[in-house]
Amino acid sequence: MGEATATATNTAHYSFFRGVEQNFDKAAKYTRFEPGILEQIKSCNSVYRMKFPVRIGNEIEVIEAYRVQHSHHKLPCKGGIRYSMDVNQDEVMALAALMTYKCAIVNVPFGGAKGGIKIDPRKYSVFELEKITRRYASELVKKNFIGPGIDVPAPDYGSGAREMSWIADTYASLKPGEIDSLGCVTGKPVTQGGVRGRTEATGLGVYYGIREVCSIAEDMQKVGLTTGLAGKKVIVQGLGNVGYHAAKFFHEGGAIIVGLAEYEGAIYDPNGLDPDKVVAYRKENKSILGYPGATDVPNSADALEMECDILIPAALENVINGGNAARVKAKIIGEAANGPLTPEADEILLAKGCIIVPDMYINAGGVTVSYFEWLKNLSHVRFGRMDKRFSENQNTQILQSVEALTGKKVTDIERRQILHGPDEVDLIYSGLEDTMIDSYHEIRDMMLTLGINDMRTAAFVVSINKVGVAYEELGIFP
Ligand code: GLU
Repeated sequence: MGEATATATNTAHYSFFRGVEQNFDKAAKYTRFEPGILEQIKSCNSVYRMKFPVRIGNEIEVIEAYRVQHSHHKLPCKGGIRYSMDVNQDEVMALAALMTYKCAIVNVPFGGAKGGIKIDPRKYSVFELEKITRRYASELVKKNFIGPGIDVPAPDYGSGAREMSWIADTYASLKPGEIDSLGCVTGKPVTQGGVRGRTEATGLGVYYGIREVCSIAEDMQKVGLTTGLAGKKVIVQGLGNVGYHAAKFFHEGGAIIVGLAEYEGAIYDPNGLDPDKVVAYRKENKSILGYPGATDVPNSADALEMECDILIPAALENVINGGNAARVKAKIIGEAANGPLTPEADEILLAKGCIIVPDMYINAGGVTVSYFEWLKNLSHVRFGRMDKRFSENQNTQILQSVEALTGKKVTDIERRQILHGPDEVDLIYSGLEDTMIDSYHEIRDMMLTLGINDMRTAAFVVSINKVGVAYEELGIFP
């Protein structure tokens, strides 16, 4: 399953990269950097467009693909690889730029990058996809565009753990004996050096982030909502990896999933939908439409305009634009996808008083856990392996002393909770939760300092400040 699923209608002639630049310029005014530094931060440092032949059946197909490294202020560069017919240089550049700001927001010490292969993955057999992926990986190796200290790809729309495993194996075959080679790509299966929790990381990060946004009473009052997630009506667009996991965690966290949208249509039920049941239904019926008890919405994009408190676009870019933004009813929009709102939509929704939680923060859970995976690969040990038993032994000692001193015993459930030493997944989840909460407060504090209600601009300011300081400290190479 890819990192997202399509529901988007791409707006023709709109430059996504230009949109990111516009958002950057809006924020740059609030920073203290000289124009040259700002220009350097904004530019894409390296753009590698490649064409390579792959034999598909009896024919040779020439595949177009990209890897863009937006910023080298920290290394390695980091970002996913998209498999889609919509891939083009402008899109990959925009997504690479967003990765730079995203990593800076969540204090992941990487520069931003992105890759794209212009294919429809559904049209190829698994064997053909493997050939294309391995060839793409070897093109990256040939040009020194991949490596644990150079540039580390990950899954994105249309790719997943399987593709990452092929990339890791291709890299290792071409670099025999390189001890850290597993760190050349993240999002791998756990059995191939991946980390527990990476698959659900982006969706879980969306949940942690929006939960934090909703926990602040004064902010909720401003948009006329109660504090906390419980009972909030949520619509999620896209049931790919990100959308599905976000919907699942919102559902488990007490929110009501009133709408779910996929490219064939959407469904709406004010009483709430169970994302697992909807996914199972869709798998069996090859469509989300006709789900028992729900109302069908044949034009999928209409779901974005339906009654809800929180809207989560988790598909592709530009889905909320000048054409439909005024009709969006949600009070909170969480950009689980990259770039789902055009700058025009941003203006319209901000004027309506909506809270727009920007992509570079809210979908940063994926790259945060990718960072943890990379650390695991470089340290060659599973998180928790060295200290789990030690913590459990210590907890046992402490509990025994407390029970002896007080003469009272805790219940069996409490005992299990107190004694439990951290497993890998516990550490990943808590590391992600901490990151999402801390980063949110950095952005919110910046909004308060600047006296603005535009969270995207505040997030850009936080990022530009971090990247700008790195460039200043590095100096300009003569
Ligand atoms: N493709 C994901 C993103 O857009 C993950 C990137 C990564 O883990 O490097 O954030």
